This record gives sequence, C-alpha cells and structure tokens, in this order.
Amino acid sequence: MALQVELIPTGEIIRVVHPHRPCKLALGSDGVRVTMESALTARDRVGVQDFVLLENFTSEAAFIENLRRRFRENLIYTYIGPVLVSVNPYRDLQIYSRQHMERYRGVSFYEVPPHLFAVADTVYRALRTERRDQAVMISGESGAGKTEATKRLLQFYAETCPAPERGGAVRDRLLQSNPVLEAFGNAKTLRNDNSSRFGKYMDVQFDFKGAPVGGHILSYLLEKSRVVHQNHGERNFHIFYQLLEGGEEETLRRLGLERNPQSYLYLVKVSREGLAGRTWCHLGNPPSQSCNPALPVPQGQCAKVSSINDKSDWKVVRKALTVIDFTEDEVEDLLSIVASVLHLGNTHFAADEESNAQVTTENQLKYLTRLLSPLNLEQAAYARDALAKAVYSRTFTWLVAKINRSLASKDAESPSWRSTTVLGLLDIYGFEVFQHNSFEQFCINYCNEKLQQLFIELTLKSEQEEYEAEGIAWEPVQYFNNKIICDLVEEKFKGIISILDEECLRPGEATDLTFLEKLEDTIKQHPHFLTHKLADQRTRKSLDRGEFRLLHYAGEVTYNVTGFLDKNNDLLFRNLKETMCSSENPILGQCFDRSELSDKKRPETVATQFKMSLLELVEILKSKEPAYVRCIKPNDSKQPGRFDEVLIRHQVKYLGLMENLRVRRAGFAYRRKYEAFLQRYKSLCPETWPTWTGRPQDGVTVLVRHLGYKPEEYKMGRTKIFIRFPKTLFATEDALEI
Ligand code: ATP
Ligand code: MG
Repeated sequence: MALQVELIPTGEIIRVVHPHRPCKLALGSDGVRVTMESALTARDRVGVQDFVLLENFTSEAAFIENLRRRFRENLIYTYIGPVLVSVNPYRDLQIYSRQHMERYRGVSFYEVPPHLFAVADTVYRALRTERRDQAVMISGESGAGKTEATKRLLQFYAETCPAPERGGAVRDRLLQSNPVLEAFGNAKTLRNDNSSRFGKYMDVQFDFKGAPVGGHILSYLLEKSRVVHQNHGERNFHIFYQLLEGGEEETLRRLGLERNPQSYLYLVKVSREGLAGRTWCHLGNPPSQSCNPALPVPQGQCAKVSSINDKSDWKVVRKALTVIDFTEDEVEDLLSIVASVLHLGNTHFAADEESNAQVTTENQLKYLTRLLSPLNLEQAAYARDALAKAVYSRTFTWLVAKINRSLASKDAESPSWRSTTVLGLLDIYGFEVFQHNSFEQFCINYCNEKLQQLFIELTLKSEQEEYEAEGIAWEPVQYFNNKIICDLVEEKFKGIISILDEECLRPGEATDLTFLEKLEDTIKQHPHFLTHKLADQRTRKSLDRGEFRLLHYAGEVTYNVTGFLDKNNDLLFRNLKETMCSSENPILGQCFDRSELSDKKRPETVATQFKMSLLELVEILKSKEPAYVRCIKPNDSKQPGRFDEVLIRHQVKYLGLMENLRVRRAGFAYRRKYEAFLQRYKSLCPETWPTWTGRPQDGVTVLVRHLGYKPEEYKMGRTKIFIRFPKTLFATEDALEI
C-alpha cells in the first residue's frame, strides 16, 4: 500500500499522519527518525476519524471530545459515515494545494484521512461512473466556513477535471462568478467579515467526458434591509466600498461620487448635527409604527475592515465582470445603479407648510419631490428606503440572471447536451437564533427545517437502500420526524405563512398584532407553537406579548412579530415603480417591467415566494444523489486554536449531528467492501496471507472466523462486511500492531 502522509509542522517535529496509524517524524541532526505510534495511543490523541467508531455514540460529550482532540491536532475534518463534519480552523492549514487534490483523486473514501477533497472526488466519480446527478449540501451557521468550502470544491473541479473540447472559458466563468456575487451579496457582519447575505445553489454541468461545460445559479432571499441599515460594527454590501475605494477618478466623477464612504448615509453612522432637517428611518420601522424621525439610526460605522482590501477586491471584481461577459456599457449601467442607491440614501427631506415632504438636497434625485410630496416626512423616508432596497435587490436578481446567461452551456443544442450530468453545490444560511428574531430568522429557520427533513429522509432512504442491496434485513430506526414543524409553517390555510398572507390582504385593518391573534386562534393547540397568551404561568415570563415561539427541531426560537406584515408585503409605491419602469438605465428597465403595473393580480408575498422557491429546491435536491458537509464555527472571535465548547455544543444540536449519528449507527457501525477489508487485515490470518486467490468474500469469511468474530458482531452482505460494534473493529486494528 502506498504511504499517504499529511505533513503538519508542529514546532520541531513534523507529524506524519499515516492513513491508519499516525507516526512521528523527528528531524534531528543525525537524520530523520520515524516513530510509529500505536493505533491505541493515536486514537487517544487524535480521536476517531469517523464518529460511528465512537464507543459511546449516543453521548454528546464524547462527540465533542472527539472533535476537540482532532481540532487540537489541526485535523478539522471528521466523518459521520459519508457526511463530512468540518471545523473552521481560522488559519491557513495549507491543505488545499494541488498536491492535496492529487492525493485524494481516485482513492477510496476511507483509505485516506477525512478531507473535503475526498468528498469532492467521491461525488465526481459517482457522477462519472454511475452517471447520476449529485448535490453537495453545505450547511452551518454564519462564519462556519460554508462559502470557503464551496470555493474549494469549485477549485478542485476546475483544476482536476478535464477541459471541455469547446467553450473552455466556462471554467473561468464558473470561478469568476464568485467574486462578483460576493461583492454584491456579501458584507461584513459581526459574525463574519465576508458573510453571504443570500442563499446560493449552483449547478455545474459536466459533459460525458467529465469536463465542466456549463452552470446555473439560484439565489435565495437577499438580505436587502442591509442596503439602508446595518447594525453597529457591520457594513453595507462590499460593492459600495469597493467602488469608492478602487474606482478610477474618472468613474467616480461620472457617477457623481466622492471617494469617502463617510459622505454616504447608507454607509456610515450619522451624527445628529449632520442631520439638520433630515428624516432618518429604515424599513424595519414602517410609517405606521413608532419611528422617531428626529433620531438617527446608527449605521455600521466601520468602512475599513482589516481583513478586507476593498481596493484590490475591486480590481478582482472589475476583471471578473469582463470574464463573465459584461460589456463596458453594462458595467457602466451597473455602477450607475450602485451610485444611485448611495445618492438616494443622501436624499434629505424637509416638511413644507402642509407637512408634506420636500426634497431639500440639490442632486439628481430632485424628481423625488414630485413623487414623494403627498407623503409626510416619515412616509417619504420610508418610501425612499423601500426604493433603494427594491432597486438593489432587483439588480442583484438581474445580476444572477446575467451570470447564468454567461454560464449557460454553449452546447445546449448539441446532442451531447443530453448526456450531461449535474453536480449541485448548496451554500445556504444555517439555523439562526439571535436575541431578537424577526421575519428574516423565521424564513431562514423554516428553510433549515425543510433541509433537515430532506436530510433525514434521504439518509434513512440511502441506509435502507444499502441494506436492501446488500441483502441484510433492515432494522427500523426511531427518529424525530420534523414534518410536523414544516407543516406548521407551510400548510395551506392553517400554516403560519398562509395566516400571514391572509393578514397582508387586509391593508389598513390588519397589524402585526392582529396577525399574532389570528395565529393564536388558529393554531393554539399545536405542540410546537406558543405565545404569551397560550403559555402557562411558568413559561409566560420568558415570552412578551408581541412574540410567538416555535419549537424547532434544533430548539426553541422566539420571534417578535413587529414588521412581519410589512416585510412580507414588501410593497413599493406605485408611482415609484412607474418611474423605475421608464428609467433610461437598461438594467433598471429590465428589473422593473411595465407588465407589473398593469398586472391586476397581487404579487406573491415574500414568504410565499420563499416557500415556493424552497419547495422547488427540495425537488431539485431530491432528484440528485446527496452528499453533506456540516460546518462548525469553533469560536465567536474568529481566532485560530480556540475551541468554545458551549458554542460548539449548540451547533452540534442545530446541525442535527447526534440524530445523524444515531441513524447511521442504528444498525452497523462499520461497513467495508470485501476487497478493501481483506487487503487491510489479511496479514492477521495465515490462510489469507500473503495472498488469497479465491473470492474476496470467502477470504473475509475465513479471516473473521480466524479472528473469532461472533455471529452477532457482523453480517456478510453481497459486496460488503457489516460490523456492528466499533470495539470489534478496534480489536482487529490493534491486532495489526502486534
Ligand atoms: P456566512 O453564513 O456568514 O456566509 P460562511 O459559513 O459562508 O458564513 P465563510 O465565509 O466560508 O463562512 O468563512 C468565514 C471565514 O472563516 C473565512 O473568511 C475564512 O477566513 C475562515 N475560514 C473558513 N473556512 C476555512 C478553512 N477551511 N480554512 C481556513 N480558513 C477558513
Ligand atoms: Mg458564506
């Protein structure tokens, strides 16, 4: 067997991780000494590389201890069967080089240390040999490493797959779509300096030779409220700062922009003095609700971030736009929109003698006076922000569509198109629980419920299928089916989204609180739903009147209903829409379609649109062979080496990892192809060593009989041996030592 090693510099010693038996390589003046570590001590030190091998697999403490040991040794990857668990190291471990890619190509999943590239390669080979579409679902909370993992996977395919015969540029486009989407869809938050503020699903299409020939992106729920408001310590979307920092003098002059982000109220904190006569409200507070126009809403106040170089990022984005087929005119149009959002944010209002808002600023947005004059100050500020958000988010949608045109396979019409297979990458927000949870968290957590349901369904299904294929009796697994929560949210007529939509149909009468009352009336009996009114004396204390609580699969989350109606309606004044439809900017012309104005039908609400897109996503994922990467964030301070147990325990729960392990371990802890098992342990039996000439299955039968396996400890399937307990396997492993 070829020796596969992983070099990890640890001071004087370079530790070599042998695939099965870690050993130490000491660099001394007298040469190199290699000390084999026994499998037993290695397990103690670096833990097991597959959680199914944990003796006490139902213990969360044992799970976390295993994670800790591995993390301490810079081993950030561990399996739960085929699922990869990854802990963000917050440092460059030098484990994604071309050599690493080569190391993981064509080798068996379990014969090398766990790695993202092992997943990448396994998925790719299944795509090629079985010709089945694949999907890698990457989940985890903000900052856990989802987007990094997605990028590494794309890099792996871009570097290791054969080049297509025609249209080789698609590889570059696939890679270059990323910086553009990140510029417009990512932002610095308290949790992550490069946080994706939208969900993303990307298909990569491969031809029959395994070369990437096209791609397609679906985006989900951009956090557009960020355009007009950011929490302290956070920023607006990267593109604004990139343009101001990196844009050429001439470009900025044309766009009427100043270089200093401090000049733009959508980007920096506003001081009260600087506010003379200005109304400042954001969409979180619609005009019907309390929003004191005299008080500025503090903006992020952190234009500069040490980990971000806006100037060089701007260069990357600018180049990437060209690669993904943007003409100079299109770039200009796109940047005009970015600039117009900034100008819009600086629009000042003052009240005239009839308390109607008048635009006081001398800029190209003067036309707003005419449009907004029937509104009072609060309403005018509200409308301005709604417009900024609509312009930005629709431009983002346009951008995704534009990228998709550039990624579309140029061979779509040719016969070979029919033989393409698809590999999907899902990088979507994880479960969110904040101190204050609103409509956005409600949508995100609903999305996680759906994905969890799919995960359990598919994992159980694949387990069952494997048992069937191997001719082994299936033993039913007890698990928590979260369909009940998905139904609570999405069911027709009595689901939370339906009730919310119904309230949105009663403008002027319905409020966030009437929505809450309706929820109470309709679903009061539901075991996963609670409000202040429905709670008993004990739980009532922790619930306010304007809140409802859902018992998610991952735990309880309390949502505040303030803003639910407004955010779900997401309305834009008709006259603003009309103006946008007649915009001379061709991109805006496409974003605001005239048919919208004549359409009598109400547009779908935000929650319903989201629900439909999720149902569609689930169908897409169901039609593919799934693979999973579960990302964990080790600490809140973005520091290497810090393992915050409390934080990690939460994530183990939110990611459903214990449930995953239980399902995987319900029957057998370990399973291996006969060939691989025999190859590894044949030296333990005189009858199989050095070579076994018969069928591998018969060799394994002879081998395990010799090793004294008891009948209840294992089962022989059609192509694999199934071992029930880790201790059986460990005893065999340890025997190799002697
Ligand atoms: P969000 O939900 O906010 O978008 P995310 O899960 O996509 O979060 P990433 O942006 O992928 O998180 O990761 C956050 C940061 O953590 C990265 O910018 C990088 O600095 C670091 N990081 C993540 N994964 C790795 C890794 N495998 N190796 C080294 N650093 C990493
Ligand atoms: Mg991300």
